[in-house]
Amino acid sequence: MKKYGFLLLLVPLCLVALRAQAWGFFGHRLLNRLAVYTLPPGMIGFYKANIEYLTVNATRPDSRRLLVPGEAPKHFLDVDRYGDSAEFKLPRKYADAVARYGEDSLLRHGIVPWNVVTIKNQLTAAFKAKDTDRILRLSADMGHYIADACVPLHTTRNYNGQLTGQRGIHGLWESRLPELLSADYDLFSGRAEYLPDPTDAIWKAVIRSHAAVDSVLRFEKQLTAEVGDDQKFGYEERGNKAIRTYSRDFSKAYHARLNGQVERQLRYASGLIGDFWFTCWVDGGSPDLRQLQNAPSLAEQQRLEREAKETAAVPAAGSAPGHDD
Ligand SMILES: [Zn+2]
Repeated sequence: MKKYGFLLLLVPLCLVALRAQAWGFFGHRLLNRLAVYTLPPGMIGFYKANIEYLTVNATRPDSRRLLVPGEAPKHFLDVDRYGDSAEFKLPRKYADAVARYGEDSLLRHGIVPWNVVTIKNQLTAAFKAKDTDRILRLSADMGHYIADACVPLHTTRNYNGQLTGQRGIHGLWESRLPELLSADYDLFSGRAEYLPDPTDAIWKAVIRSHAAVDSVLRFEKQLTAEVGDDQKFGYEERGNKAIRTYSRDFSKAYHARLNGQVERQLRYASGLIGDFWFTCWVDGGSPDLRQLQNAPSLAEQQRLEREAKETAAVPAAGSAPGHDD
């Protein structure tokens, strides 16, 4: 099996302590990048030509959470707000979910799987229209939201362990562990496959993530009880500051106890992103991407720069509803 450790070198490390942003910058960028390599010959040339765009913009949906009303709920779904085994029972159609729960309630508890289906339809339409700017923007965004759906703690109201005295576990699982320990991962997920039922595919991802919530929380709790807070935390240099963070030993022991879970979820997420991109392309009529403008337009680049300035100006202390802790 191929190792994709070399790709890690291509992804700029960002060790800033992140708030509840799935996979952190590191993971999101890695995932969009890996997904490109799953694509078939008819797509890979165009996507490789834009791999830097897809990498850098993999984190844009998180950056705009505080800026764009309605953005925050697109990143998670608190499955356990809806009772036992709700992941199997929630309406798959957004309109049906709105009819049952009301939109306010849905937005409070997150809408990630429904949002992925919406973007699937938009990206399919962008391929039909052969619109490079929209294809790229929606591909980058879609990669982000699918990756979010593959993070167990994005499927529970106890998203940062705040209900069980484990505050900080979100960043530990999705940022600290992959940043520290992913160099030896085997992240090759094979060729992208067509998804006959994209709705079912993204709900399967949510079901799979939610099934992992118990072990994510339980192993951390067990390990904390065994080693105590002294060994659990340590200080590390970040820039010219010493930051209190999970110690390397604790992170490694937790990672070992999870028995490959982070690696499996990363591999699964990159494969699923590739599957969705491929499915949109097929459903959009498999356009010949060699005939498209093969980079974002100047207008789109300027729009991205404007948006980056606006998001940078939003105070980090601002808050968006849901999964911000
Ligand atoms: Zn996110």
